[in-house]
Amino acid sequence: MSENRGTFSRDSAQQYLSHEPEMQVTALSERLWTISDGNCRTMFIEADNSIIAFDTFGTPGRARAYLKAMTATVPGKDVKTIIYSHDHLDHCGFAADLAPRAEIIADDICARVIKLRQAEGQLTPGRILSGNKNDMQIDGVEFTLLNPGPTHGSGNISAWFVKEKILFSSDTILANARYGFMPDYHIANFVKFMRSFLELEWETFVPGRFALSDRAGFKKGCDFIEAVQLETQNAFAEFVPIWAFEPMQAYISNKLSKKFADLDGFEEHIGQTAIRVVHHYLMGGWGLEDTPEAAVMLADTVDL
Ligand SMILES: [Zn+2]
Repeated sequence: MSENRGTFSRDSAQQYLSHEPEMQVTALSERLWTISDGNCRTMFIEADNSIIAFDTFGTPGRARAYLKAMTATVPGKDVKTIIYSHDHLDHCGFAADLAPRAEIIADDICARVIKLRQAEGQLTPGRILSGNKNDMQIDGVEFTLLNPGPTHGSGNISAWFVKEKILFSSDTILANARYGFMPDYHIANFVKFMRSFLELEWETFVPGRFALSDRAGFKKGCDFIEAVQLETQNAFAEFVPIWAFEPMQAYISNKLSKKFADLDGFEEHIGQTAIRVVHHYLMGGWGLEDTPEAAVMLADTVDL
């Protein structure tokens, strides 16, 4: 059997692509659920006559396991809407295996990147959103999709459920230090944009990975990234060899362990996080997407 391959080119990836993990579903309210494959996490909604799914998980096997878990939780209803939280394949790569006829909603920049990428299994969105805030009404359900500016990936949108007091924001803030790789975080304005969510009323935070959290966990996650940004700048002043893992790990651990060593994963990930963030200051960011006006990226070059 040949699976949709995303961007893999080797047949050896098939085993990884077809694996269907056990999914954990947790109810958040009468209509809202969160689901995890043990690493990535997302949400789905029971609408009046259908299911609204955020994301797809990161392989065809995971997309199938997601679909089975949703239809077991909400029997008799089909997934008719998929909302992409951002463009990355590990979260949104396999709508073709989840619900190929569903309407796909995504941010404008996310849609342009997906169109250019042409990854196998990643369907292009049919409904494109723009702006910072979109109030949605889909099949009897109301919620708000937010894009405060470039935070992670391309066209990252978060969801705010006012009545349930829930915020969902994929691959951004975590209440731990377990995501040190951070290849596609837009550091320049990341914490400022994420902190803007604290002006909204919500109590439960649903991240794109690992465990659920709350406002205190979200705030500490913001403080942590901000502290890494501060101390990686100090590393220049103290002439730490910023391109080498061990000296950076030692320097940042020493500076931050007092305040943040209690964060799960701190010891194993802080060196990697520091290497990533310090290069933001060395180079100025990855490109246009790390500027405050990310909308200029691709705006005139890719038609939807
Ligand atoms: Zn991502």
